[in-house]
Amino acid sequence: MAVPQPELSTLHRSTPATTLQIVLKVASRCNLNCSYCYVYHKGDLTWQRRPHFMADDLLQVTLERVKRWCHQQGQRRVSLLFHGGEPLLAGVERFDRWCRMIRSALSDIVDLTLIVQTNGTLIDEGWITTFRAHHVQVGISMDGPEAVHDRERVDHAGRGSYQRVAAAIAQMRAAAMPVSILCVLPFGADGAQLQRHFAALGANRVSYLLPDFTHDTIAEIRQRYGPTPCADLLIPAFDAWWQEGTLDLLVEPFVNMTRVILGGESALDMIGNRPFGFVFVESDGAIEGLDVLRVCGHGSAGTGLNVFQHDFHQIAELSQLHHQAIFTGMPLPQGCAGCAEATTCAGGYLPHRWSQVRGFDNPSVWCADLLRLFDHIRNRLGVTAEETSLRRQVLAEMVTNTLT
Ligand code: SF4
Repeated sequence: MAVPQPELSTLHRSTPATTLQIVLKVASRCNLNCSYCYVYHKGDLTWQRRPHFMADDLLQVTLERVKRWCHQQGQRRVSLLFHGGEPLLAGVERFDRWCRMIRSALSDIVDLTLIVQTNGTLIDEGWITTFRAHHVQVGISMDGPEAVHDRERVDHAGRGSYQRVAAAIAQMRAAAMPVSILCVLPFGADGAQLQRHFAALGANRVSYLLPDFTHDTIAEIRQRYGPTPCADLLIPAFDAWWQEGTLDLLVEPFVNMTRVILGGESALDMIGNRPFGFVFVESDGAIEGLDVLRVCGHGSAGTGLNVFQHDFHQIAELSQLHHQAIFTGMPLPQGCAGCAEATTCAGGYLPHRWSQVRGFDNPSVWCADLLRLFDHIRNRLGVTAEETSLRRQVLAEMVTNTLT
């Protein structure tokens, strides 16, 4: 999932080696057919052999594994994210049962957060009642105004989904539910228009995702859209957010880039190179490390483990890559050494670092975009890279002195 996903970035911050965040891939199919989807259209075919939905007994086994982990590690807060495919294809009755199973298994031993990431097309009053009953946070995928959104986010007959998603958002707003939007950057669109659109819809939170490409697949995009298509969108979006009185709309990448520039830590996997402890359980029980790694090729996200036979801590023993990616953090790419943003960007999002030749030892495929955006936000804030570095040193000293 591109893990950050708007909702992923709201999950609890990870303490390496102890805090896991569980993503339940409860549905392996989707009612939409978005061309950029990393599950179906980036070369990985593992979805084809998986059950359409996670069975109840598999969920129960998974919950037992979560319990064991929490007891072993002393983890006191757990976030479970329903993901897919499209999780709402499971139907409201089954979803309600799953929520009750989860609460019954875990709510006595941990502080529980339930989240669902959906394409929004199936939300109706029944779903809203169920979300509210179980305090489920809802993230909705939308890529902008109708003409932009419907370019990619179409059903299997090629029909756009915007009207259904916009209606769902209106229903959620009428029910006083917070609206959190996940937008995969639509190349060539007007960033300011995107930002204004989400503000006008009454969204509370927006997360812009850099599209999932690797060093092996990016050439065509650069040819079509130029050297920095993400920055071309995000800089006008940032200016609209900053200048037009909509700062109460939380825009994940902007808030997190501002935070790291001011000396803080990123709570977003797009920048900062911190491990977030995500573990994915597929609808057949397979345990995966980071599902979006499937953009690196068929089966790349697989671990060979499954919840019927293995505990979550065994992922750490599989390989250095899994251990680092999930629990401790990856080394900075060699190509990032000496970069002014080495402590803020820190190499970018892991899947975007991939090449067949050097593995994950590359700067992000969106490096030039990130540098432009950092530069732009720095100018707005009046904070240089040197100033950030000084602030980090001071803050680190303060933390050390507080702890000793
Ligand atoms: S901006 Fe580029 S070189 Fe600098 S840390 Fe990020 S990916 Fe690496």
